[in-house]
Amino acid sequence: MTSLVSREDIEDELVRAGVSSPHVRRRLMNLVHMYAVAVSRQFSGPADLPAVPQDPYSRLLPGHADLAARVARCADPQCLRVKPFREYTRDDSCPSGRRAVCKTCTRRHARLAASPRLGPVRKYLCRACGDRKELDFFPEEKRRWPSLAASCNECAEGREK
Ligand SMILES: [Zn+2]
Ligand SMILES: [Zn+2]
Repeated sequence: MTSLVSREDIEDELVRAGVSSPHVRRRLMNLVHMYAVAVSRQFSGPADLPAVPQDPYSRLLPGHADLAARVARCADPQCLRVKPFREYTRDDSCPSGRRAVCKTCTRRHARLAASPRLGPVRKYLCRACGDRKELDFFPEEKRRWPSLAASCNECAEGREK
């Protein structure tokens, strides 16, 4: 193999592709991991299998930094990933000296802000209650891909209860 693809690279691609839920991303990453293990097993035999990497910073809260390790957890709810300081813009007004949101997310926000959805307000069908509602009443996924069949926030919340 000439180019190595890291776990980070794959997750970056998922973020870029709009997989905004950290839970969904973790599930996909675990699938990729299982596939990678299965493939590597074909080549190396059933030797020692690498475990799914655990998050060594699981106690690092969003927007907080580990000054010793020079990493911070991005405060963006769609990201929440632990990244090295170089992935954050310097900001001396923050306690860690870095912004709370990583560069990738900052760029994504700028892109979204620069391309407001134009046209008349459209309403979309909730697959649960059958009402038509504006996109604002649907989860993030649906707002990104309006063609997605989805339940409105109200119905989704009711289901969780
Ligand atoms: Zn981020
Ligand atoms: Zn509904």
